[in-house]
Amino acid sequence: MAKEHPHQYELTDVVRTYGHGPDRVQAVDGISLTIDPGDRLGLVGESGSGKSTLIRMLAALDRPTSGQILFEGHDITGLPERRLGFLRSAVQIVFQDPRSSLNPRMTAGDIITEPLRSPVLRRRSDVPTDRARRLAEVIDQVGLPADTARRHPHEFSGGQRQRIALARALAPRPRVLIADEPVSALDVSLRAQVINLINDLVDEYGLTLILVTHDLAVVRHLCTSVAVMQAGMVVEQGATAEVTAEPRHPYTQELLSSVLTLDP
Ligand code: ADP
Ligand code: MG
Repeated sequence: MAKEHPHQYELTDVVRTYGHGPDRVQAVDGISLTIDPGDRLGLVGESGSGKSTLIRMLAALDRPTSGQILFEGHDITGLPERRLGFLRSAVQIVFQDPRSSLNPRMTAGDIITEPLRSPVLRRRSDVPTDRARRLAEVIDQVGLPADTARRHPHEFSGGQRQRIALARALAPRPRVLIADEPVSALDVSLRAQVINLINDLVDEYGLTLILVTHDLAVVRHLCTSVAVMQAGMVVEQGATAEVTAEPRHPYTQELLSSVLTLDP
């Protein structure tokens, strides 16, 4: 039975292990946390600390080895794909490199409306049914030209391709946007624009944002809270302002000082 005001996510001792024997990797090593509707959580941590593994499990693209994940009060830990429709319409994910995440043979229009045509989502009442109209709407919202739909990914710049990925993520009117390093493959000069766009879209749709980044400036701009990961665990967590002003964990202090010295 779902609680009346459930958390958006409730994770209890989530573990994800890859491989066996001496090759065994504990990618996520016992994470318990809650995320509430409208939260804007930044996940930071060095490469290999388990950030991508964690968010893949939040998007039900991967499953915990042990532990439990509740989404809006429903246990999704062992649910088969055919019963994940409620999550597939509500949770959308944007990846780091739009060059590899967008199918080069499809038109931008087909890429953006693909989630609306998927069998799990098509029958859901909360997913827009007028696909042409929704397509035009999201293309406009992400600031792409009106003739975007019939063009192919290679005809766009890196920043525009990430806008296509965002339009696709928004098309089914999700409640949660997960983004894995959404600007780190982009030219530095384009990053601020895409960050501002994400900020506007999160506001406009009232989205819960879960954002992986190694850039604390991105966290400061987009996230109200931050969780710092190291070796598959969350080693520090709190309001962005507090964590960045007074980091308690040595790893967070190190992360902050390395950013400060890189900042011109
Ligand atoms: P991050 O996103 O923080 O860089 P990842 O979640 O990608 O970290 O990886 C965490 C650890 O799990 C790393 O040691 C990585 O090599 C390992 N890992 C991730 N995915 C797989 C996989 N599919 N098979 C085997 N090992 C994996
Ligand atoms: Mg990663």
